[in-house]
Amino acid sequence: MPELPEVETIKNELLPCIVGHRITGVTLIWEGIVRQPTAGEFCSCLIGQEITSIARRGKYLFFSLSGGDLLVIHLKMTGSLLLKPSSAEPGKFIRAIIHLDNGNSLFFRDPRKFGMMRLAKDDSSIVSKLGPEPLVPGFVPRVLAQCLNNRTAPIKALLFDQKVIAGIGNMYADEALFAAKIHPLRQGKSLTPEEVKRLHKAIQQVLWSAIGNKGASTDTYFRPSGEKGTAHFHFQVAHRLGGKFCPVCGTPIERIVVRNRGTYFCPNCQPALLRDKILQ
Ligand SMILES: [Zn+2]
Repeated sequence: MPELPEVETIKNELLPCIVGHRITGVTLIWEGIVRQPTAGEFCSCLIGQEITSIARRGKYLFFSLSGGDLLVIHLKMTGSLLLKPSSAEPGKFIRAIIHLDNGNSLFFRDPRKFGMMRLAKDDSSIVSKLGPEPLVPGFVPRVLAQCLNNRTAPIKALLFDQKVIAGIGNMYADEALFAAKIHPLRQGKSLTPEEVKRLHKAIQQVLWSAIGNKGASTDTYFRPSGEKGTAHFHFQVAHRLGGKFCPVCGTPIERIVVRNRGTYFCPNCQPALLRDKILQ
């Protein structure tokens, strides 16, 4: 699933190519991708508007339009936005095409059809439900500590809960917990101030590094150019992509399920606390 680094990469790479360009047409190959308003209203509203900026918040993309509307896109499990000449064959899994006045089009590829587009007047209804952004200057260790304060849920589940922190999903939660040497089932409130500091640093390092590597193409994620990201080549534990053994101590990496998500960790580098085990 595209997480913060993948969505940030898409935003960064689309910005110079589509901002300042007008939408000349919309082709909906699968109308269900539009959640609001109706498919017909969606298309007629977009046509003629210029894309004036693109912003990311959490895993959402917001395209500001010259008429004052906001095009909201969420890629969910398997979505990608590909920028290709308008004359290109759509190919498999393309659900919608937004045509631009420069001869290029934005192809929304989504094998599993969980992704969505909608129009909004502003981002407030979405942003108000999201936790803090982990890469902004204001996200200091104290803010992370507040996010975890009194939380009894496993730290892994808190990290991928968008209401707690925005943008982190399954892969980067595993990577950050490994880097911080924290067991994924530790209760949020059980972390010491020192551990919160370590986790804060690990979250930022893991996310910045993945952005530098243009995201992780573990599954169906592509950059707008159609190229893959390389962040997954640097994974230490997530999906056991680095191998079956901990790269630090050689212990076999374990897989458990936390709130329905496959979770990978090193039982030696990330020891569980006894009291957390009892509470499980
Ligand atoms: Zn280890």
